[in-house]
Amino acid sequence: MNIIFSQRMDSLKASEIREILKVTSKPEIISFAGGLPAPELFPIKELKDISVKVLNESGSQALQYSTTEGFTPLRKQIASRMNRKFHTIIDFDNILITAGSQQALDLSGKLFLNKDDIVLCESPTYLAALSAFKAYEPKLLGVDTDNDGMIINKLEKTIQTNSNVKFMYVIPDFQNPTGRTWSVQRRKELVDIANRYHIPIIEDNPYGELRFDRNILPSIKSFDTKGLVIFVSTFSKTFCPGMRIGWIAADQKLIEKYVLLKQGADLHTSSISQREISKYIELYDFDEHIKKIINVYRERRNTILSAMQENFPAEVKFTRPQGGLFTWVELPLHINGKELLMHCLRDNVAFVPGEPFFPDRKVFNAIRLNYSNMPKDRIVLGIRRIANILHNIYNI
Ligand code: PMP
Repeated sequence: MNIIFSQRMDSLKASEIREILKVTSKPEIISFAGGLPAPELFPIKELKDISVKVLNESGSQALQYSTTEGFTPLRKQIASRMNRKFHTIIDFDNILITAGSQQALDLSGKLFLNKDDIVLCESPTYLAALSAFKAYEPKLLGVDTDNDGMIINKLEKTIQTNSNVKFMYVIPDFQNPTGRTWSVQRRKELVDIANRYHIPIIEDNPYGELRFDRNILPSIKSFDTKGLVIFVSTFSKTFCPGMRIGWIAADQKLIEKYVLLKQGADLHTSSISQREISKYIELYDFDEHIKKIINVYRERRNTILSAMQENFPAEVKFTRPQGGLFTWVELPLHINGKELLMHCLRDNVAFVPGEPFFPDRKVFNAIRLNYSNMPKDRIVLGIRRIANILHNIYNI
């Protein structure tokens, strides 16, 4: 087959780990691998009722083409939720509804990046954001992080030594993959850097509302004074990912640009899904629904942390997330996460090795564990099996 593809395809490779992890769909596998929400929390009964209502009340509009910006009542509901939860001051015309937040990341790459432009991101960061950006052939540079977020003087040095930084991509709340959360001080400092160097920030915030023990922290967007922060979020983790509804909240001038790109990509996000979510928020208590999710995930977080504490050797370090879906495990330097995965799969346990989450470094001794998608007994069993392999094969 002699088909010539675009150059950008050279930078996109099928992930070897994704291929390995295809086995995780088998029921006998205890999987810490995906970022899947707990399906028993999907509001299926309510959605049956809502679907009928939407079709009865506005069937012909729900099944028709609609505007690129999105369903206005949903944009209003999102703007008012964001202002209430994330301390922003935005209006509905600052919102563009996207097909999941993944589309918002792809459109951001398309909007900002020429070949060899620079994207700054946390190191490690969300793997599928890296894949989305890579299609536009940038250089991805990781900035080291500590428990409070990006290390600001390292960030500033990187900006000073690279002239074409197009945006900074960050996940401030319960980050994927590490589960870490940025301090409020670092959020302010990041906005300060953005203002001084005039570089946009993409704040990717799918997990912020899933905070287990305290109030939700103010978003980076809430400190935005120059319209440089582009906030991206989704209903995937607070409602259900299959509906594919996410959004961008940004300055209106930026939204206009995103709208142009979205028109070319898919005209608009599913009219019927947008109306269904909007109806759900109108008729049911969305905050109550999120509380239920938080209660289940908090328990699962507690379970995985105490199972690791009890069973993992002391040399193995892990993060203690205050919300979200993931914990990040650092192994002793000589243990390779992918090799550990191959041993664990033989024992029907899966997770994602840490290496592909790093934009520009090779770090092999880490793994990401998801705890949202399994009952407590399976979590404990899975952690014990990993601990046994660490003990029996690696002698730790
Ligand atoms: N950003 C981050 C940090 C994520 O973890 C995810 C999903 N795992 C997404 C974006 C994409 O989510 P969706 O497209 O379902 O909204």
